Amino acid sequence: MTTSESAVIDAVPTGLFIDGNWRPAASGATLTVEDPSTGKALCEVADAGPADGMAALDAAVAAQPGFAAMPPRERGEILRRAYELLMERIDDLALLMTLEMGKPIAESKGEITYAAEFFRWFAEEAVRVHGSYAVAPNGASRFLVQKQPVGVSLLITPWNFPMAMGTRKIGPAIAAGCAMVIKPSELTPLSMHALAAILTEAGLPAGVLNVITTSSAGAVMEPLIRDGRARKLSFTGSTPVGKKLLEQAADKVLRTSMELGGNAPFLVFDDADIDKAVEGAMLAKMRNMGEACTAANRFLVQRSVAGAFADKLAERMGALTVGRGTDDGVQVGPLVDAKSRDKVSALVQDAVERGATVRVGADPVDGPGFFYRPTVLVDVPLAARLSREEIFGPVAAITVFDTEDEAVAAANDTEFGLVSYLFTEDVTQALRVSERLETGMVGLNTGLVSNPAAPFGGIKQSGIGREGGDMGIEEYLETKYVAIGFGG
Ligand code: NAP
Repeated sequence: MTTSESAVIDAVPTGLFIDGNWRPAASGATLTVEDPSTGKALCEVADAGPADGMAALDAAVAAQPGFAAMPPRERGEILRRAYELLMERIDDLALLMTLEMGKPIAESKGEITYAAEFFRWFAEEAVRVHGSYAVAPNGASRFLVQKQPVGVSLLITPWNFPMAMGTRKIGPAIAAGCAMVIKPSELTPLSMHALAAILTEAGLPAGVLNVITTSSAGAVMEPLIRDGRARKLSFTGSTPVGKKLLEQAADKVLRTSMELGGNAPFLVFDDADIDKAVEGAMLAKMRNMGEACTAANRFLVQRSVAGAFADKLAERMGALTVGRGTDDGVQVGPLVDAKSRDKVSALVQDAVERGATVRVGADPVDGPGFFYRPTVLVDVPLAARLSREEIFGPVAAITVFDTEDEAVAAANDTEFGLVSYLFTEDVTQALRVSERLETGMVGLNTGLVSNPAAPFGGIKQSGIGREGGDMGIEEYLETKYVAIGFGG
């Protein structure tokens, strides 16, 4: 590690954050955080056990009434200050994120800006929680409807966007007046630890945010979900884990928000602007090295433009510089661990065995770390594993179609429904196909849908609920209706 890398690592608190204090795990256990570009240890952090989890829940439960009573403007101002601190410290935070997760520094800065924007957005939403007052249809009573915080919230986040997946939940929880326990991924806890320190500096009261990093996610979280004092579970991660958590949440009928896996189709019609489509494809495929729930997983391209699209995409993908995310000029960092890299490699091999052709990539990258070269495959059969499963890596799989009906049927032929992308210059076709696609979000002539001011989320097995936009805070609010007797 260089001196500046050691300095950012040394500055991060490594304990569990419970009731406003950083403390070791009750058992004294620690876990190792690694740099995926070298496979070497960065530092040790406290490894929570079930007793630590329960202490975190106790702290959130104790903080809940006071925090719910804090004026919304004050809660908003905490978020606004945290937004400003994140932006002031973006260079150090980006280096920290790149070290633990691998993405190039420019992408880490992009994520921190995106993450901070959730705080700015929800700082503004905190003071815009409205109710209503109405006359009953028969005039005999009045309806008073108010919104109240849902209560203590359990938040679980993945490693791929270690800070933004947290602020997308913490921002609305603070704005609504909910205390919380958050569990980041054991692979990338450092960004969340840095975020907790910033929120404390911004004035968040002790006990409102508790952070427990653990190598035993199931053993620590299940008792908290089944405890009954927390009233909300918000999870971002894979669909299989999400299903398991939904079962656990059913026990005490928790409110749930689920941001799960995807299998995004990317449709290019023959009247599309091909340069624009390739530009969109690079963004939708290569953001975060393809390790994004929104990553384009299946490129479906109309026959007359398929050759030109594949040529241009292969040229762009082949020209990308792969390397350690901290190095100048690097555009593609390592995958997060050996398991992820080996899965990507196995999916490519399966597609080739079933008849796909490699246009670029698919060869090994020398050296330590978990790198995979940007790859373009053509003539990919829709039965190939990578057409059915999330690739979560820098591999573009192209399949040709002839008709709109065929393209829409193929796009919808998945249990996932997070996002789809659609490139066409025909406005009627654009609107018609957007309506027919079974996804919670559609990128129309764009490869990027994520925006803190817009409702992010999926349908089918990609999730329940929306994060961001004016719907984001609703996930942390309950509706209370008071019936008011009126007159005789
Ligand atoms: P994951 O394995 O499901 O893990 C997600 C989080 O859940 C991590 O914090 C993990 O902890 C924790 N976890 C795992 N098993 C658990 C259990 N039994 N009980 C409680 N918590 C548990 O997913 P991932 O590999 O980190 O993330 C990639 C997945 O997330 C992809 O499927 C991607 O599409 C999805 N994702 C979705 C969105 C969205 O907005 N829809 C956004 C980003 C990512 P540990 O890591 O410490 O084991």
